[in-house]
Amino acid sequence: MASPENTDPPFPESPVLPQTFGEDHAIRFRCHRGVSCWNACCSNIDISLTPYDIVRLKQRLDLSSTDFLEQYTVPYEMEKGGIAGVKLKPVEGGTACRFMRPEGCGVYEDRPTACRYYPVALLSMRKEGEATDRDSFALVVEPHCRGHDEPRPISIADYRAEQGLPEYDDSARGWRQLILKKKSSGPTIGSPSKRSLQLFFMTCYDVDRFRAFVASEGFAEIHDVPADELAAVQADDVAALQFGFRFLRQVLFGEASIPLREGNVEERRARVAAQRARLEREAAERVARDEEPEDDDE
Ligand code: SF4
Ligand code: SF4
Repeated sequence: MASPENTDPPFPESPVLPQTFGEDHAIRFRCHRGVSCWNACCSNIDISLTPYDIVRLKQRLDLSSTDFLEQYTVPYEMEKGGIAGVKLKPVEGGTACRFMRPEGCGVYEDRPTACRYYPVALLSMRKEGEATDRDSFALVVEPHCRGHDEPRPISIADYRAEQGLPEYDDSARGWRQLILKKKSSGPTIGSPSKRSLQLFFMTCYDVDRFRAFVASEGFAEIHDVPADELAAVQADDVAALQFGFRFLRQVLFGEASIPLREGNVEERRARVAAQRARLEREAAERVARDEEPEDDDE
């Protein structure tokens, strides 16, 4: 199954047709239990997950985000040395989705965005220097999928509504914007540090760890966030995600998206610098000691 998390134009040789559409465009498609290819798409998966997909699935499975990531996903690089994404892990030694059942999807009400969009692909694009992104759509036509033979015309807008996609797209918009901004700003932003990449992964995909991070003393020491906002982050996964996307605009692009306690930031910087200097001095002293010639007893 093709992933809709394509932010690049489709390749000519891919099953994504080389033509993009607006929401008014009508496709002809219907998927139902009676099709001859039932479950074919779920037998060979390549499903990227959005942060909201993870929240929905971990809630459904009653797992922490950390446990869900470990048991059901694999990380992948969206760009070399850059930010990471996560994909659904197929069955052990195979390509089928672990949620596939003979009667259909075992997590249907909480199925990921990619599964909902299929056979439509969302193409979010932002041109270099542009402040906002633009959505367009493409059609994925794979020979095994007989849903295209069904005589049901439907506009992409109606198909998105039928599949519950507006809620999914709204809840993941901040994440998609971070990715597009990172890609469209290219070298002007520079390579994110390892720490920024780790923060991106935790904040976007491991919401329960992010929540613990926000509740930590270190976070409160330098961020000036109203108590009701912090309470919402602790109480609600989606509120935590939205706060996290704001936090990452600060981490990755230096935006003043979360108020800081300036005095404490300076103090902390000085403390970290002093600690680093002390560690370097101690390491240098150790090396010097190790290099000292041993006493010659002869
Ligand atoms: S989550 Fe459901 S719809 Fe998506 S690939 Fe798995 S079984 Fe199929
Ligand atoms: S019609 Fe397409 S989407 Fe539906 S089960 Fe068949 S392959 Fe999957």
